[in-house]
Amino acid sequence: MRLAREGEGGFSSQDMESGVVSVFPLAGFDKELAYRVPAHLAGKLGPGSLVRVPIRRAHALAVVSRLGTNESLPPERMKLVSQLVHDLPVLPPDLLEMARWMRGYYAASLESILETMVPAAVRKGTRMKVEVLLEAGETPPPEEEAALGKRAPRQAALLKCVREQIRPQPKTLLLKRLNVSPQTCRALVEKGWIRETRQRVERTVYEDEFGRAELAGEGVTLNPEQQAAADAARVSVEAGRFAVHLLHGVTGSGKTEVYLRLLQDVVERGGSGIFLVPEVVLTPQTVGRLRGRLLRESGAKTVVWHSHLSDGERLDAWEAMVSGEARVVVGARSAVFAPLPNLRLIIVDEEHEPAYKQEETPRYHGRDAAVYRAKLNNAVCILGSATPSLESLHNTAKGKYQASRLLKRVDDRKLPLIHVVDMRHELLRKKGTPPLSSLLAEMMRGRFEAREQTILFLNRRGYSSSLICPDCGHVCGCDHCSVTLTFHRTDDTLKCHLCGHERPAPRACPQCSSPKIRWRGFGTQRVEEAIRQVLPKATIARIDTDTMSRKHRFREVLADFRLGRIDVVIGTQMIAKGLDFPNVTLVGLVDADLSLHIPDFRAGERTFQLLVQVSGRAGRGDRSGDVVVQTFTPHAGPIQYARRGDFDGFLEEEMEARRQFNYPPFRHLIHHLFHGRNPDKVLFFAEQWVKEVEKTLGDRVEIRGPAPAPLEKAKDVYRFQVWYFCASVPRVIGDLQALRAAFKWADDVSQVLDVDPVNLM
Ligand code: ADP
Ligand code: ZN
Ligand code: ZN
Repeated sequence: MRLAREGEGGFSSQDMESGVVSVFPLAGFDKELAYRVPAHLAGKLGPGSLVRVPIRRAHALAVVSRLGTNESLPPERMKLVSQLVHDLPVLPPDLLEMARWMRGYYAASLESILETMVPAAVRKGTRMKVEVLLEAGETPPPEEEAALGKRAPRQAALLKCVREQIRPQPKTLLLKRLNVSPQTCRALVEKGWIRETRQRVERTVYEDEFGRAELAGEGVTLNPEQQAAADAARVSVEAGRFAVHLLHGVTGSGKTEVYLRLLQDVVERGGSGIFLVPEVVLTPQTVGRLRGRLLRESGAKTVVWHSHLSDGERLDAWEAMVSGEARVVVGARSAVFAPLPNLRLIIVDEEHEPAYKQEETPRYHGRDAAVYRAKLNNAVCILGSATPSLESLHNTAKGKYQASRLLKRVDDRKLPLIHVVDMRHELLRKKGTPPLSSLLAEMMRGRFEAREQTILFLNRRGYSSSLICPDCGHVCGCDHCSVTLTFHRTDDTLKCHLCGHERPAPRACPQCSSPKIRWRGFGTQRVEEAIRQVLPKATIARIDTDTMSRKHRFREVLADFRLGRIDVVIGTQMIAKGLDFPNVTLVGLVDADLSLHIPDFRAGERTFQLLVQVSGRAGRGDRSGDVVVQTFTPHAGPIQYARRGDFDGFLEEEMEARRQFNYPPFRHLIHHLFHGRNPDKVLFFAEQWVKEVEKTLGDRVEIRGPAPAPLEKAKDVYRFQVWYFCASVPRVIGDLQALRAAFKWADDVSQVLDVDPVNLM
């Protein structure tokens, strides 16, 4: 049990007397409420305590937000807190503060935020599972043991098994394995020949992959670039000063090694750290390395945190964190809310990844939340990437973040050669363009014969797309917005989803008159067939979100690929992250255009990042690799800069384009989606709303829209969107929220706000 001390957000004598707490209820409305503390809970509640309180006619969960209240109601007329759910506070003070900030910045309900921060298993008040273990007790006299073998063979079998085991084993497991009853066991326990002990169940996750202590990198000496980066961050860590460090280093330049050193330092000094990765299941090697290293060097326990945990696993991990037993948490986005005491360091690996943005309420960005949490704790946040986001680079340019750069790969291995194939020249006599160019097919054959492996990337098929001419590479774009126009099949038009500009979709290419302008990309199946034609004997596997709904299946495929049982893997971008297969020497990007020409001002940035990440996947072993990029627009900037490995060139051009249109990172963007079954009505309300915003906030925001969303209609629901461009979110969002609350919405028109959106579809 925790008793809050004075001065650390706990009780003051005045609060003691008033015996009143403010709570945030998890009961469907967004308001702080005040309750009186009953005598049996006096002194047991503090900020972050999880309680039950009477609301309407039910007892709802609530989190104590602070002691005392601003409520003018006299305490004797307040209702009483009915129950304390957990002895430990479920949220430390810094997370309560975070919750308030997220509510304001992301315009999300406090309830949704608290539910994200406090795992369901904890909210349910589930207790730790305790397990009974069996171990050998006193040695039985030989004659009795011999007699036992005849009289009670099952007892004898169990006894033998327990005495032979190296360490205590779970009782249920042993009884089941030997098929003996609990009575059999009890008889032996009563004789004292077997002892029962109890211990908390440790459900260590993915022990097979994640638990293995990775020895690589032991005792390496940091090279001068790494040392400088580590020293720069260490200065801030040791001073207990908030700082953000951008670690910009090419793949294989030793960024992870720098993270590990810093985490180790922090742990040795009694602090704790969070290590965020875009997707835990995809980064088993990093997790293994981290765990092994920290355990070996500092004896510190690392907890893995991600969305695939069972309730039990989650509860174990959570208890290990709040109790201070675990000192480092590695996990996906939501691990940024790990309730670790004495947080000194937060690392965000692959900080540019869109996966850090949550696409449902609360729509927070894991990277930005990490920066804010570091700030609250006077801690250090490290953002690492081979292709940092323009947002982070902009913050560096403004002097808000410090930057370190790792330009060399650790072993001086060369980056793979990137071949750009102009698909306009790949036409077959009748059938149009084949999914595999002759260069890619040729190289795949070579790799198969040499028993090396290939990864082919297919872009995730979007629900809407642009018109690209497969003959001349012309792309239909908006003249006003520098984004691609979206092809809307329903009414055969091209629309700009930013400004609303609209025109009929052309039947033939405006540039070369080719009727093939309506090319829609290669289907996955066609690609698979093409591969089978090229390599009839190869084993091929597909990894995508559709076929990989089962995480075990996904891990099986990865394991088989690693063991060389699969020759070619076809996957979406999801496998471009972090995976490390030394025998992969060829990577193909089948349809680079699909990510390049989507109606998103970040399309170029994403494509560049994808190409660089994908290239990092080829030839990580002792062989160097090849990358084949197939495109109808080979001269596009992102493709050319990626081919030359010219990050700075790309950055300069892309930043300039963003500056011209005043897009992020030069301004913030807020996305407002309206949807409903009656398109006229939805549009009408969106238009009325925009007028209101114009009146109140017109001086602080630039409004675009309403325009149809790129995904114009989904499941009979029509979607429209409005964009707000603004210099500062905090200066806008509060008024926007207030306006939204006061506006008379129709019941059948729904709307969603997304601050700093990442997915613009
Ligand atoms: P990144 O995270 O930038 O891709 P890693 O930290 O994973 O790079 O380093 C790539 C490989 O180089 C790893 O196998 C790592 O153990 C090794 N390595 C990193 N730093 C050094 C060093 N200073 N000396 C020798 N090997 C190193
Ligand atoms: Zn054309
Ligand atoms: Zn436009």
